[in-house]
Amino acid sequence: METTIFERIIAREIPATIEYEDDDVIVIHDIAPSAPVHLLIIPKRVITSIDALADADAALVGKIHLVARDMARKFGIAESGYRVVSNCNADGGQTVFHLHVHLLGGQQLGRMNSPLASHASEQPTTKQETSTTLRDTLLFIAVAIGLAIGFNAMNPKAIAWLKPEFERQTATQNEIDKYLRQVPPAPVQQKEIIQQAPVQQARDGVSQTSTDQAAAKNSTSSVNPVIASSDQSASASAFTPEPGVVREINYDMFVRLLEGTKNYLIDARGSDKFSQGHINGAANFYGGDVQSRIPDILASVPRDRVILIYCDGGECELSHHVADVLKQFGYGPVFIFTGGWAEWTSKRK
Ligand code: 5GP
Repeated sequence: METTIFERIIAREIPATIEYEDDDVIVIHDIAPSAPVHLLIIPKRVITSIDALADADAALVGKIHLVARDMARKFGIAESGYRVVSNCNADGGQTVFHLHVHLLGGQQLGRMNSPLASHASEQPTTKQETSTTLRDTLLFIAVAIGLAIGFNAMNPKAIAWLKPEFERQTATQNEIDKYLRQVPPAPVQQKEIIQQAPVQQARDGVSQTSTDQAAAKNSTSSVNPVIASSDQSASASAFTPEPGVVREINYDMFVRLLEGTKNYLIDARGSDKFSQGHINGAANFYGGDVQSRIPDILASVPRDRVILIYCDGGECELSHHVADVLKQFGYGPVFIFTGGWAEWTSKRK
């Protein structure tokens, strides 16, 4: 029998984002996710499909479902709901003939005719009409494409096959003013804190130390201390989170929000660029693999903050990937500084 892609992933011959592994099962992120959370729970032993299960596999099947349950909890979708599904053979839409269970969630999945049903329609309907040679050729092409997609997905400088559609709405001055009003500065306390931590100066600078990064990873310590202090004098209930609001902002808006609101700052660039320099206080969530960081995001990004994201600047795809995940999980408002690191460094020279 031919070795499947999952056997090769288990054997570490092909890269994959592995979320969990033990003696019996491995959990990986699907290479072409059909939902914000799309994991594959795969038994390590080769069983081609549900149809090939033996009665003695009952414990393994049970375990696969318990792992699915645990993964759903880990990714914060247990309460909102999720789908566990396994496709069997051609009519079931199975494309990899090594038993696996899909765990899908993070959005309203709709009825059972979506999103996985699309696989079924891709199956040839009249197999008999396909000659052996043609079938072998198609198989070869499919495997080659699969490998190319696999390697591309694992490559940090991956080529985007499809340009994703992002919500590109620019913030208005009124919106910015609204959030600035919700968390007004407190001059007296601000003065005291500034003596302890010259935040304005720190924000202006570029952090390059590992201690700074460690601090940045910590959710609460990454909040501007001046602003954290001023919150205490402002009414704690004054800030109203707006789940799902994602806006693009320019440099002036960014600076105003950074300095005048209770915020959480995210650098969406890769860790190599982040460690070379980043805006002080930023946490690093790389937009290219943000799906695998969902548990960290849910654990560390507070919901009662204005969220500010930047990446290199320009199209801001990395920032938008992070913003999309935050939006899916009910965070907001989220502001993307489109000038990004390029404009920040040029203006702060
Ligand atoms: P099936 O169609 O057999 O139910 O599901 C197979 C799943 O495996 C598909 O959702 C497909 O996107 C995923 N898949 C195929 N090749 C790879 C790969 O190389 N890496 C990963 N992570 N997933 C893959």
